[in-house]
Parts: sequence; structure tokens; C-alpha cells
Amino acid sequence: MQRYASRNLDYLPHHFYNLKADLKELPPPTLNPATGQPLKPEELEPVFPKGFIAQEISFERYVSIPDEVREIYATFRPTPLIYAQKLVKELATPARIFYKYEGVGPTGSHKSNTALMQAYLASKEGIETLTTETGAGQWGSALAHAGSLFGVKIKVFMVRASYRQKPGRRIMMELFGAEVAESPSPQTESGRRFYAENPDHPGSLGIAISEAVELAVKNGRTKYSLGSVLDSVLMHQSIIGLEAEAQMRELGAFPDVVIGCVGGGSNFAGLAFPFVRYRLEGQTIDFIAVEPEACPSLTRGELRYDHGDTAGLTPLLFMHTLGMNFVPPPIHAGGLRYHGMAPLVSHLVKLGIVEPRAYSQDKVFEAARFFLKTEGILPAPESSHAIAAVIDEALKAKEEGKEKVILFNLSGHGFLDISAFDRR
Ligand SMILES: *Cc1c(COP(=O)(O)O)cnc(C)c1O
Repeated sequence: MQRYASRNLDYLPHHFYNLKADLKELPPPTLNPATGQPLKPEELEPVFPKGFIAQEISFERYVSIPDEVREIYATFRPTPLIYAQKLVKELATPARIFYKYEGVGPTGSHKSNTALMQAYLASKEGIETLTTETGAGQWGSALAHAGSLFGVKIKVFMVRASYRQKPGRRIMMELFGAEVAESPSPQTESGRRFYAENPDHPGSLGIAISEAVELAVKNGRTKYSLGSVLDSVLMHQSIIGLEAEAQMRELGAFPDVVIGCVGGGSNFAGLAFPFVRYRLEGQTIDFIAVEPEACPSLTRGELRYDHGDTAGLTPLLFMHTLGMNFVPPPIHAGGLRYHGMAPLVSHLVKLGIVEPRAYSQDKVFEAARFFLKTEGILPAPESSHAIAAVIDEALKAKEEGKEKVILFNLSGHGFLDISAFDRR
């Protein structure tokens, strides 16, 4: 078995794939909380750049990637598609396991795929500053990098627990010229509510989103950028799956099972949605979305309307949610500590197309160590959730004596999370 697919530039798509064009039944619309009516695109204009809103509401199957953005993608894409030779051998499984390695991106995760597109759209409209939140720091660093390339200032509210645990990510954002504040901060009304009570409040993604949205709404030349959850963000990530399909075909393979970890749902959707097309056409492909037991929005949350943030500033999204006030315990996979889930991923779970699973932190770290020893890459704690499910599926294939093909997304590397692996 050839170990790597080629990284031929022809495999880098010229278009994003928009799953909404192929869904017969769509998720319920996003609502304006003030009126209870479906949100009108112009009502999003105080928050997001217009070009971004246009993509959010697009039903076109293929949305073109601007040359300026594709050129930057080409500095690190196509990302590698790797056959996990040693992992397969050690598991003694008849399954063949492949992974798409997004850790080669500029800041070590898949987040640059949407960060670059969003910073580009903001720069086209002369937007001065993009605000955002970050948990573990991967999203903040990806946007800080993208902003530095397109001349947009980046202001990041970083969840306090991570800010203090992971100074490496903060330093990286500052190196790119971004301004980073610990959240909850005294800089916004949403932050002060929690900060006044407890200046050491550990924070949450929901609170940090409220702070970032509030600043955008209050300043005309400032807009907000979100790193996951939204339809358009999932669409930007589709280049992962489109490349993977071409690379798999080069190796003469096609997946029976597609696996990814889910925080807000974007890296999973990015790999899976281009293959969901084939499932909708009747092919048998399984999809598994893996979340932490400590933040189980898909397996334990309710499917209903909820706000995307804690202060209730965002529109109402129809999604699996643990409730906007849920503050997840401080697990190492900071990128998976979000109370909600992308409406499109929630919808596919409801349709029975995606199977959700929750794994414990211990099981996930054990899988990460096994992967490091076999494949030689230290996975991000988030991505390690996917690896734990891959190992389970490979062992199941062994029991059943089935030769299935497993494809998963290694959404990022764990080099800046190394202390999480210390004496565990
Ligand atoms: C942010 C992040 C995640 C979780 O976010 P999704 O939108 O669910 O992909 C997963 N893996 C890595 C490496 C991340 O940085």
C-alpha cells in the first residue's frame, strides 16, 4: 500500500462545496430573537461582513474560491492524505485507515481554511477590525495569521482558563499582531457581568463570543468572525473532503466510514459533507462525529432553538445544545468546549446520517499516545477524539473480519498542548 497520496496542486479545489444545495429537507431557519421570525440577511449586517452573509445564505452547490485566497491555500494545501500503515499493523486489523492531516496549516489546524476566507471578505469591504473568541487558541491564531496577511486588525477574547494554561497560543497571536484579552474581561458589558463577580472567572466560549459580538455591534468599522458552527464556515472547510476524495481515488480507495471530532462541527463537516453527497445518492457510507463526554451536545443535548453565546446577543440557531449557560469543565480539548453544535451537523444527526459518540478524556489520551507511537505525529487533544473512534472501528472490523476503509480528519497537531500529555 502506497503510504501518501500526492499533493498535486490540481487537487486543491477552485470551489467550496455547499451541502445545502443537495439536501431535500433543510434545518429550521435561524430566528431573530426580538421578533421570533426567520432572520433577514440584512439583520446580520451589524455583525458580519456583507460578503460573508451572502455566503451564509447561499444555496449554490459550488461557491468559487477567490484567486487571492486560493494562492495562500496553495502555500500549504493540498494537505497530506496518509495511509496509517503502522497504526493498521499494530491493531492487526483488516481495515484500511487513512487520515487527512490538517496540522500542516500555518497555525497547526484546519481553522486557517475559513480564517483566510473571512479575513479576505472583511478586507474587501474595508473593515478595520475583526473581533473573535478563542478557546484553546487555535482559532484565534488562525485568524490572527489571516488578518496579518489581508491587513485586518484582529482582536481576540480568549477564554481565561486557556489564556492562563496555554501562554504559547497567546504569544503566537501577538506575534501576528493581534490584540488578546482574557475573557470575561472588563472591556464589555457582557464580560463585566461575570468579571465583576469574579475577576478569576474561568470563562467559556459562550461568554467570549458575547464579548466579541458586542464590540462589533457597537463599532461600525468592526465586524465579528466565528470559527465554526455557521453554514458558511462548514462550507469553507469542504476543501478538506474534496481534496481527500481526489487523493483517496489516486490511491484506489473510497471510504466506508468517515470520522471526525466535533466542537462546533466544522472540521468534521469539512471532511464529511463532500462524502455525504454520495450517501444522499444512496451509497452506503457511515459518518461518526465524536465529542467529549464532558461536553456532550450531540449525545446529551436537546435539539431546539438556542443562542450561540451566553449573553443572548446572537440569533437563535436550531441545534443540539446543552443550554447557553452551560459552562463545560476545563478539559484539555479546549476546542470542543462549546455548548452548541452546527445546525447542519445537528440536522444530519436527526436524519440518521451521522452517528454521534462521546468519549472520556482518559480514553482519548490513550488513543493519542498510541497514535504518536505508531504514526509519529502528536495529535491535538481535539483530534484525538476522532482517533479513539477510529481505533474502536478498526477493532470492530477485526472482530467481524471486514475489510472496511476508514477515513478520518486529523484536524490539528498537539505541539502547543504538549503539557497536557505530561505524566498522564
Ligand atoms: C477548533 C478545533 C476543533 C473543533 O472545532 P470544529 O469546528 O468542531 O472543527 C477540532 N480540532 C482542532 C485541531 C481545532 O483547532
